[in-house]
Amino acid sequence: MFSLAVIFYLHCPLGDTSSSSSKFPNGEHVGFPTQRSPVLPSGFRFLLTAASSSPRACPELSLILLAPALPDTTMQTVRHSEHTLKTALISKNPELVKQYEQLDPREQRLLNEAFRPGSDLFGPITLHSPSDWIISHPEAPQDFEEFFSDLHRKSPSSGKQTIYIQCIGLLGNTRSISEEYLKWLKGYCEAFFYGLTVKLLEPIPVSATRCSFRVNDSTRNLQIHAGQILTFLKKKKPEDAFCVVGITMIDLYPRDSWNFVFGQASLTEGVGIFSFARYGTDFHSSHFKGKVKKLERKSSSDYSVFDDYYLPEATSVLLLRSCKTLTHEIGHIFGLRHCQWLACLMQGSNHLEEADRRPLDLCPICLRKLQSAVGFRLRDRCKALVKWIDAESTDTPRVTPKHSREELVTLPKPVEAFKEWKEWITRCLAVLQK
Ligand SMILES: [Zn+2]
Ligand SMILES: [Zn+2]
Repeated sequence: MFSLAVIFYLHCPLGDTSSSSSKFPNGEHVGFPTQRSPVLPSGFRFLLTAASSSPRACPELSLILLAPALPDTTMQTVRHSEHTLKTALISKNPELVKQYEQLDPREQRLLNEAFRPGSDLFGPITLHSPSDWIISHPEAPQDFEEFFSDLHRKSPSSGKQTIYIQCIGLLGNTRSISEEYLKWLKGYCEAFFYGLTVKLLEPIPVSATRCSFRVNDSTRNLQIHAGQILTFLKKKKPEDAFCVVGITMIDLYPRDSWNFVFGQASLTEGVGIFSFARYGTDFHSSHFKGKVKKLERKSSSDYSVFDDYYLPEATSVLLLRSCKTLTHEIGHIFGLRHCQWLACLMQGSNHLEEADRRPLDLCPICLRKLQSAVGFRLRDRCKALVKWIDAESTDTPRVTPKHSREELVTLPKPVEAFKEWKEWITRCLAVLQK
């Protein structure tokens, strides 16, 4: 049995939500305030929540859970009716229907795949174990209309259209690998949030944040205080920022009594801090090289333990997980809540296997939300995503520099793990170009 805690935490205009579980080593880190559901047997909860908390989104009881409890070995499906998915995507509000009908017909054709029976582009959410997010953390579903009419959500406005990324500590074993990794993430965000500007703030060492840190009692890895980093980022937020997101390969904790947190965000302030530390393939290994036997500090301002701290190898899987996490979390800052309609990047995840199961991209319902906030053409965005996968990848022949030692260690972008997604995006693009 795992002994770590999972923490969900955010600040928003409607109040704070936090919860913890003592069961699972991995967990979603940014949640949304939802009405607390009555405590019901696991497996029943989502069914009742979906049916009762959002009658607009669920005009009929279309959600099918095949059994009240899930045996660990059985995969099950959350399947909505065609009518429900169509309403979640288009809505019944005449203004929003009109807005939808004004979209390019090819864009409508792609989005309509959400409710086309037998679509090979978008499928239902599958449940693999009782620890999956939807079962263990019931939330009210958010359809397009609810997203659109949410007075508290943030949208990029004129003069505030830039996503800033602040790297804290290195992301790779050398400075040049770290810089490359950052550029890959920046490029990916530029494609994903197509049309917005993404800028990198000058990377800083952990010491620059003056945050508290500790060694985790059970994993023995170093952790930095997420809330103090958020405070630091708020002060640094540039005038033209839509949001500032801190990223780090150092694990995070939100308060002394809690075990760890993947990240923390303040949606009203438009700041977030996210860690990729637990996405390294060796994090949960008993041979994990980031274990610290004893934390020795000469003073409270002594951050030297971070100087040569272990960092996981920049593999294609780590890059894929980092891209998914970053875009999922920035999606929350746009006001997108956890998706409960179709398999989607915005699904919550409670553990690494579930996070890996999430698609790289958004379902049509979440895609329409993001499109309405950012204003991109779907075709341009798909093309940009394919271009990012192809550009400077390990498949691209590179000229080896003759003299610069620093450049010699520069990695080509590892994109093997993105290949199946490139094929999928290309099929979406085919629909958009018919
Ligand atoms: Zn989330
Ligand atoms: Zn979705």
